Amino acid sequence: GLSLRLSRVASLVGMRNCVADLGSDHAGLPIALVRQGQVNAAIAVEVVEGPLSASRHQVKDAALETRIDCRLGNGFAPIHRGEIDAVTIAGMGGKTMYAILTAAHALPHIAQNGFRVVLQPMDSAGTLRYLAKQLGWTMRADVRMVDRGVSYTCLSYDVGDNALCDEADVQEKLLRLPPFETLPVDERMTYVLGEVPLRSGCRLAHEALEQEIDERERILLA
Ligand code: SAM
Repeated sequence: GLSLRLSRVASLVGMRNCVADLGSDHAGLPIALVRQGQVNAAIAVEVVEGPLSASRHQVKDAALETRIDCRLGNGFAPIHRGEIDAVTIAGMGGKTMYAILTAAHALPHIAQNGFRVVLQPMDSAGTLRYLAKQLGWTMRADVRMVDRGVSYTCLSYDVGDNALCDEADVQEKLLRLPPFETLPVDERMTYVLGEVPLRSGCRLAHEALEQEIDERERILLA
């Protein structure tokens, strides 16, 4: 079965037609999404051959080859225009995710009205909250959860009516976007903290704060 962490990520996908899972490793997430009837089809993307062949084996064992395509490539590069209506990226650093989401080949997808973005970064969630805010995405979820004693941030956004939905506009915005690291400290804090500690229960709020304080110290020292 799926880890608690990936189950939470899956729950944030909702019901979609076709999702791309970037950095899929063993394709556990797309397999679960198809099995649970949340998506009709999925594309598991891996930049490394080893994990890609692990994905292929898992998909074959699950007899889901007709529904889940496994592709080699960097981020959105192996996905065609109009193929997907959601993306999941889990278990990697927030800065890597930022690079994936802002690459030229990401634009046809992230500038699509109705597109959903689900992220579970291992760190630097503030950078991703900043990106989402700047592109006008609607926040669906910003949650902390604990799996085997480790706490994780899960983010979910809709590219909706208030978002930049034109590729050229998104490209223009990204070109002019000041890097997160150059923002005034106070502004960075608001993104680093997010809405989480104010809203969630005690224990999670406490853990979230501890982790975020580590990030704050890094910000202050930078
Ligand atoms: N998503 C799974 C999870 O959350 O359990 C696997 C996480 S694993 C730690 C990260 C995977 O992302 C690795 O298999 C790595 O090869 C892949 N990866 C890293 N950068 C990538 C990129 N730019 N495009 C596609 N895959 C990438």
